[in-house]
Amino acid sequence: MRKCEVAVLGLGLMGGAALGKLLEAGVDALGFDPVGPGSDRGSSHGSCRIFRRFNFENPNYTGLSDEAHAGWIRLQSESGRTVLTETPVLEAGRPGSAMVASSRAAAIATGRADPVMTAAQANKEFPAFNLPGDWDVVVQDGGAILHTDVIMRLMRARAATRVIAELASFTPRRDGVSIRTASEEVFAERAILALGPWLGRALPELAALLDVTRQAVGWFAPSRADSVVSGRFPIFILDRGPDDIVYGFPDFEQRGVKAAPHNHGPVVGPDDWGPPASDAELRSVSEALAALVPGAAGPIIDRDVCLYTNTAPADIRRDAGEEFIIDRWPESRLIVCSACSGHGAKFAPAIGQRLARLATDPSYQAEPFFQLSRYSQFA
Ligand SMILES: Cc1cc2nc3c(=O)[nH]c(=O)nc-3n(C[C@H](O)[C@H](O)[C@H](O)COP(=O)(O)OP(=O)(O)OC[C@H]3O[C@@H](n4cnc5c(N)ncnc54)[C@H](O)[C@@H]3O)c2cc1C
Repeated sequence: MRKCEVAVLGLGLMGGAALGKLLEAGVDALGFDPVGPGSDRGSSHGSCRIFRRFNFENPNYTGLSDEAHAGWIRLQSESGRTVLTETPVLEAGRPGSAMVASSRAAAIATGRADPVMTAAQANKEFPAFNLPGDWDVVVQDGGAILHTDVIMRLMRARAATRVIAELASFTPRRDGVSIRTASEEVFAERAILALGPWLGRALPELAALLDVTRQAVGWFAPSRADSVVSGRFPIFILDRGPDDIVYGFPDFEQRGVKAAPHNHGPVVGPDDWGPPASDAELRSVSEALAALVPGAAGPIIDRDVCLYTNTAPADIRRDAGEEFIIDRWPESRLIVCSACSGHGAKFAPAIGQRLARLATDPSYQAEPFFQLSRYSQFA
């Protein structure tokens, strides 16, 4: 039987980053995933994600963003490939928007200049927009388009022969973890489970805390193509009211403006990647673009579906829910990662580092914010 120190099951952005950190540190690690870069499966697939320094979800994420940013810059300089395209992030919402206020507070808390703007200033600076005069607006610098397809390819190429491209099952043992694939049997001293939407299936005790939702994504043919190109158009997140947040990107790949609803779609299973996003699922996006970003509005020319995995709110402390799980699994040599909601991608280098340390440094604990003990069943 083949042996290794650490097995990483699932090589999306989280597992891929963890495997990279382990190999860099000289750990005898192996990764397992039947899905490779360029696939249309796995929550990390597709060309891009938003990198934000200031996260309206919780100011606790600012440090993680900074740590991850350093990791992305390092990957960029070592590979010579474009991993990040620095791009301002415009966040706007109806008067009193909690999203805009939280993002603004997170920026101010770091001593940065107040990122607030009037809607009129934003419309002037970014002519594709037509935000109502009374809307709240912030424009944060330090944002970027994260080129996730490039990153996934770099991670896989770097791990090279340390990847077994097969589905893996695991059996926890007192002294380690047995891993089985169609062609290999491996004994690992520890195993990281970075299985994205499939995590609840692998650990049924966790399933009740994880909701997998179907998320529609569209590309729109812009009515004013010159107004939506990188440099003249920001990443945007528009809070139109309860359960109606729409985000989008500049047309940086001549494919149209990628835009999508951020509110959760229907709960589905981890293998439910079809059918393609419908016009009805993208209606709120079409309406938001027509009303608020007319330069980007136009017919839908491409579609995709991705899955969010949303963690339940903690029941023994206050949190808003959807915080990541990065922790050891009780009474085992397993490490679990669920950073698969709608905003995990940007943090992958920082999360990979935490996963690698959990697997190799017995004295290390991830921040309490990410621990399973926030749920009474694990306390
Ligand atoms: C529509 C959408 C938009 C998003 N936008 C943003 C954004 O703008 N900014 C941001 O920061 N984040 C964003 N996210 C979130 C981000 O993409 C996810 O947090 C991240 O991709 C999760 O990565 P992961 O590695 O946890 O999961 P995945 O990428 O799903 O990886 C899990 C892997 O496990 C593998 N696997 C499953 N079962 C097995 C098995 N038995 N054996 C071996 N391998 C297995 C799968 O093949 C898969 O590759 C978005 C997500 C979606 C869906």
